[in-house]
Amino acid sequence: MTSNDARLRERAAAVVPGGMYGHLNTAIFTPGFPQFFERGDGCRQFDVDGREYLDFMCSWGPVVLGHRHPRVEEAVAAQQSRGDCLNGPGPIMVELAELLVDTVPSADWALFAKNGTDATTQALMVARAATGRATVLKAKGAYHGADPWCTPIPTGTTEANRADLIDFAYNDLASAEAAADAAAGDVAAIIVTPFKHDSFADQELAEGVFSRGLRALADRVGAVLILDDVRAGFRLDLRGSWETFGVRPDLTAWSKAIANGYPLAALTGTDALREAAASLYTTGSFWFSATPMAAAKATIETLRDEDGPARMARAGTLLRDGLREQADRHGLAIRQTGPVQIPWLAFAEDTSLERAACWTAACLELGVYVHPWHNWFLSTAHGDEDIAAALERTDIAFARTAARFGAA
Ligand code: PMP
Repeated sequence: MTSNDARLRERAAAVVPGGMYGHLNTAIFTPGFPQFFERGDGCRQFDVDGREYLDFMCSWGPVVLGHRHPRVEEAVAAQQSRGDCLNGPGPIMVELAELLVDTVPSADWALFAKNGTDATTQALMVARAATGRATVLKAKGAYHGADPWCTPIPTGTTEANRADLIDFAYNDLASAEAAADAAAGDVAAIIVTPFKHDSFADQELAEGVFSRGLRALADRVGAVLILDDVRAGFRLDLRGSWETFGVRPDLTAWSKAIANGYPLAALTGTDALREAAASLYTTGSFWFSATPMAAAKATIETLRDEDGPARMARAGTLLRDGLREQADRHGLAIRQTGPVQIPWLAFAEDTSLERAACWTAACLELGVYVHPWHNWFLSTAHGDEDIAAALERTDIAFARTAARFGAA
């Protein structure tokens, strides 16, 4: 019998280029992933064939309180009843900017947009407007979005789109200093993610000497330090992901988890960059829609009131400890990297991802949605019992992987 998913794929192939594209295109994952989903509820998602999954991707980050969180949905419904896309923003834009300024110590102001790429691109524009310089230093392989300056697959772009970028190696301060030297006084900005979360690679937490060193380097060369907190923001620390290092960026790009799945991005910055930010022409038809802003205010307040990052850390620790115990018991060598709220698991000796593919396919079949080569995301909806339910199934998935490949 043909599944609903297969039928939708077939119809999509006729009317959507490639049938699907971008980061949710299952053609670029390992086998076994459904492409189309019907609904989400808390930490669960249901595909179009009615299969239920404990969700460890959270829509690749946006869903931070669980799908359809009541407090967010109430705020959304209240705003929708008054209108969404009007001739000007609602009062909610000011309220949300005030909330961000109150929550994030490095924020004296906020601009809003739709996607993370909007915010990182805006950040570069503010930095260039403020400094009158062109060059931006970035970590090699770091993802900052899909615009021509930063897309990892440059098809359809030109060399000129990336002409003013110089790479350094993450956690290697000397290489960042060398990149700054190579720019010979022209550094507008250093853009960096709070930890290294490149696909297909172990995640790496930032070393204090690196984060503090980048801050000092930016100050020394008169460049703007941009923290790209699009992926990690609101999961690790509501104040910003480098606040624990005592490192305050000049600009921070936010999106993903900011509005529990509603489309919104923000750029926050310091007073010193307020004038430069005000001088930009940056806008979009949907950027001032009130509903996602109402969702964002409810999301950030809920994360604050319920100590969201700590709850996600608890769930993430239970998950990590459970997976470690299981892998050891099955004699499988794994590596778990990154913060526990944004975890990842890789198998040793698995360069062609055969073990990851086998384990992930088994997890999917058993109703646990994880990813073989991209980091996962937890939400505050993941309770102890959900982690326990997931672990019962991951244990079976490890058993199948060990049976197929033997202990590694
Ligand atoms: N920066 C980082 C660190 C990201 O993880 C992402 C999205 N994965 C982006 C920027 C781009 O965000 P968006 O896909 O919303 O444009």
